[in-house]
Amino acid sequence: TLPAAARPIRELPDELISQIAAGEVVERPASAVRELLDNALDAGARQITVRLLAGGVRLLSVEDDGAGIAQDQLALALRRHATSKIASLDELESVLTMGFRGEALAAIASVSELSLLSRPAGQASAFLLDARSGELRPAARSPGTTVEIKELFFATPARRKFLKSDATELAHCVQAVRRHALVRPDVGFALWHEGRLVEQWRPTWSGPAAGTHDAAWREALGQRLADVLGEDFVLQAVPVHRRVGSVVVTGWAGLPDAARSRADQQYCYVNGRFVRDRVLAHATRSAYEDLLHGQRQPVYALYLELDPQRVDVNVHPTKIEVRFRDSREVHQAVRHALDDALAAPRAQALAEPDA
Ligand code: ADP
Ligand code: MG
Repeated sequence: TLPAAARPIRELPDELISQIAAGEVVERPASAVRELLDNALDAGARQITVRLLAGGVRLLSVEDDGAGIAQDQLALALRRHATSKIASLDELESVLTMGFRGEALAAIASVSELSLLSRPAGQASAFLLDARSGELRPAARSPGTTVEIKELFFATPARRKFLKSDATELAHCVQAVRRHALVRPDVGFALWHEGRLVEQWRPTWSGPAAGTHDAAWREALGQRLADVLGEDFVLQAVPVHRRVGSVVVTGWAGLPDAARSRADQQYCYVNGRFVRDRVLAHATRSAYEDLLHGQRQPVYALYLELDPQRVDVNVHPTKIEVRFRDSREVHQAVRHALDDALAAPRAQALAEPDA
């Protein structure tokens, strides 16, 4: 081949563009689980079932009872940059759905064998679309959607080689479901692996989702936390609920005794989205600084709510990172809310310093 500089510039074929995008969006089966759960939640699902074979590599399906996709929209759902969630820049800037980029299904379909089975409530029958062949045929299903992914990365052996054992991939999938379950007590989740029920969390809230301003919702959230992370998580934590400026911080902050050697029970959400964020990490670390010794890691689940215009969620294809318009304000809000919640434990720690 010629050196790159001597070759003409060409537009890449659609398939290759999607495969490149898939490299960013779908790292492993758990990334696909996350995207499909986002879609199910955006569709208003109340019950979501995830089924896996071989850690999700051989088969990964997500079944929901949400709004469904009309027969004549199924093919469009698989197109790149096709979405029902935003239509303008304005809508992007105040987006509250989990998705909006319109690339997950296209990306996953480009590195797997994907099929879409769906039926909106008003449609007489369900339809099944096979992404590879484009074949569309009627099928049986109650209202809702099932996305089935087979042989993830079969066409991209380089990526496939990076996958770990089935058990490890399963653990990542469980983690993905857990992250969604911890913020949606109104939705039931079930996860099956190799025909075995691995996790099941029933809704702790019925009726339309309320939000953290509602005390009953916070109670339902606490019950879901107990179901998912164990009763001790909630029993050994102080509740947090505080507005600082335009930011509302809600959640549970683990007591010093509940701290762990690994930072594996730290959950932060911004407007219902699980995020990893340096501002939040720094604020929590500083709040616990004088309460924890050595390498002890606090446990917490924090739910931040702020004007969607004040947070940019379009920073990374996986949307796990966000950018705050005023990160100082967010830092202070978390810091104040935690200082407040941890005041009593702190006073106690100072009164009886441990040996
Ligand atoms: P995005 O979520 O960013 O819109 P996706 O590629 O994930 O992009 O999905 C494309 C479109 O397919 C969505 O906008 C939605 O209209 C439709 N869709 C995907 N999954 C579901 C589902 N489980 N239920 C209903 N509609 C869905
Ligand atoms: Mg999506």
